[in-house]
Amino acid sequence: MKVAIDGPAGSGKSTVAHAIADRCGLTLLDTGAMYRSVALACVERGLDLEDRDAVAEVARAVAITFGKDERGQTVQLDGKDVTSAIRTPEIDKAVSPVSANPLVREAMVAQQRAIGEGIDVVAEGRDIGTVVFPDAEVKVFLTADPAARALRRAVQRDGGDAAKDADATADESAVAEILADLIRRDEYDSNREASPLRPAEDAVHIDSSDKTVDEVVDLIVKLMEEAR
Ligand code: C5P
Repeated sequence: MKVAIDGPAGSGKSTVAHAIADRCGLTLLDTGAMYRSVALACVERGLDLEDRDAVAEVARAVAITFGKDERGQTVQLDGKDVTSAIRTPEIDKAVSPVSANPLVREAMVAQQRAIGEGIDVVAEGRDIGTVVFPDAEVKVFLTADPAARALRRAVQRDGGDAAKDADATADESAVAEILADLIRRDEYDSNREASPLRPAEDAVHIDSSDKTVDEVVDLIVKLMEEAR
């Protein structure tokens, strides 16, 4: 079975996909981590991120792999752990032009399909239900209002989890900065030519603003049971 979870930044895709992978024994595929890893590789090489051919060459050359340790899922770029390095504000910015590059997307989508070949996967991203796994049995488009998304990300950066702690707070200026970045990234992702962020026609829309992780996961597990 393939479960596709798409949606804007900070909508809770990652937390929900992790929970589904754990609960139902599916392999987790974090496609955002792959675009982030390519962005990091390009930044490390000092590339002009608008140079499509040079960036695509890097995307084709690097090896992105996933592992597991006490932090949960880990990401390796050419064998080096980059789990934290791909989640800095610098990479939040660099990833937009990299992921808008159609040649990069071609390389990533091929790898994502190869990873998913013949196995049960819960994949999260922007184009899973529309491009990567258009035949996925379950497609979810997860949204949340921007303020809720920014707060979650800010709490997450401080090491907390707003989805589990309803009273979690974060520094106001940090929330405002993250909110501005989320809005910028959503606009970029929604308006790019290559695989813009949009729900698949047959996706089930879930707004997670006022829901706990467990409530969202329960809804998706129900959809999985109905699809079996
Ligand atoms: O999900 P995450 O926020 O880690 O994704 C980082 C960026 O990667 C997104 O802002 C988007 O530009 C890009 N992305 C994408 N397609 C995907 C997953 C992520 O374009 N399937």
